[in-house]
Amino acid sequence: MNIAHLLIKSAQAFPDHIALAKGDAAHLSYRNLLRKVSVMATHLRTRMKLQPGDRVALAMTNCVESIEAMYAIWHAGLVAVPMNAKLHPREFAFILQNSGTRACVVTPDLADSIASIKSECEALERIVDTSTRDYSFMAVGDPLPIADAAPEDPAWLFYTSGTTGRPKGATLTHRNLLAMSLNYYADVDRPQPGRSILHVAPVSHGSGLWNFPLLGRGAVQVFPESGRYEVPETIALLRRWPDATIFLAPTMVKRLIDHPAAGDIRPGEIRTISYGGAPMYVSDLKKSLDLLGNVMIQLYGQGESPMTITHLSREEHARRDHPRWEQRLASAGLPDSCVEVRVVGEDGKVLPTGEVGEIIVRGETVMAGYWQDPEATARSLRDGWLWTGDVGCFDEDGFLTLKDRSKDMIISGGSNIYPREIEDVLNMHPAVAECSVVGRPHPEWGEEAIAFVVLREGRQATPAELDALCLENVARYKRPKDYRFIDGLPKNNYGKILKTELRKLL
Ligand code: AMP
Repeated sequence: MNIAHLLIKSAQAFPDHIALAKGDAAHLSYRNLLRKVSVMATHLRTRMKLQPGDRVALAMTNCVESIEAMYAIWHAGLVAVPMNAKLHPREFAFILQNSGTRACVVTPDLADSIASIKSECEALERIVDTSTRDYSFMAVGDPLPIADAAPEDPAWLFYTSGTTGRPKGATLTHRNLLAMSLNYYADVDRPQPGRSILHVAPVSHGSGLWNFPLLGRGAVQVFPESGRYEVPETIALLRRWPDATIFLAPTMVKRLIDHPAAGDIRPGEIRTISYGGAPMYVSDLKKSLDLLGNVMIQLYGQGESPMTITHLSREEHARRDHPRWEQRLASAGLPDSCVEVRVVGEDGKVLPTGEVGEIIVRGETVMAGYWQDPEATARSLRDGWLWTGDVGCFDEDGFLTLKDRSKDMIISGGSNIYPREIEDVLNMHPAVAECSVVGRPHPEWGEEAIAFVVLREGRQATPAELDALCLENVARYKRPKDYRFIDGLPKNNYGKILKTELRKLL
């Protein structure tokens, strides 16, 4: 099934529901969104002469047009290549070349950036700026019937956020996206019509992937006018579009709960905060639950198995009386309905409960491979299993605890140190705003742990205090051997901490 059938079904079931909103203002109903998308598809196929399977990229700051363009692309049988709006022109050029993109839809703020690299991208014939008549003209004409798509046809090339090295295009098929959406209904939530999803995180990533299950249930997709994540604006939008689902990276959750205006959020305004993509510290999670109520749902996934590997449900977050509640909050939850998840040794053999190894995944959401990169595909997909590069262990109840990316693990004197464990402890100190622990080469021990610490404004903490906190909570050998106080942690465009940059500072 072409994933764009979700829109056709919702246009039938909820024709008059608002499908898209710009800030406070309704933009299009479901009926009109389908109409617009199917006319745009005609332009893509006939005027622009794109053929089924051709790639169309999006270089767009979050806006309603990004959803219009994506559905027009799928409706026409083409492949969407959503790119993070904050990328450097060089990074855009890499993705456009790698994907062999023929057309690129841009928001006006990115038009120059894409125009400046057009000559390097051989296949790129057309740039359509959403602020021009070229784009508005795409809404005029006759609708195209939806194109057939085989389940294994590519739908979305998801370029990995690349905390190291070049991004790779995880090829997500129509089947992958459908399985991911159905899994949402099974494990995350079954939204009642009339709800909203606030796209404050980039739609090229998790927020955009969650558009499917919400659109499939007739929700309104709301785009902040700033095109960014601003906490006061987000809170104001909640009043206009309550019962909201929001996808947030953990650093974004932290910005929300640390903001003085967070206390203004009323019960019922947020239905779900779906967080994931990076570790969430238990102290922040508890604060979120205290402040916002039972709205938190964690997902652990990666572009290669989008939004699906494990989840920690709303119910598990609420089970405060469970003897292992805190341990569960620190975990990534239980395997999703649509995938098998294993923890294995280097030889691929399943490890006993409690032992730490690489997490591998098999199921309907696992990508077809990396676009035009057979070597990287062969490294990641082996015997039908996706090797995630993440390290973790299962407990006796089947909850998966993530340790770290295998490359972030520190090996000191032959023992493994998982930075996250130390970071969790350092975060308990009231003066610590954020921190990150990395390994520094050591002639005798191989590596030693070093902590980078950002202090809250006007607060103080000494290395001795932090050291004492570690001594109280973790084994001696795991303690950081040095504390570096810095103004902010380097992050990528998705808010993930760049440990590679921190290692360079050493
Ligand atoms: P991306 O493909 O950009 O979504 O990045 C996926 C990676 O983010 C995973 O392989 C994990 O290393 C990390 N990640 C995703 N979800 C979580 C989570 N819930 N907790 C910790 N790390 C996560």
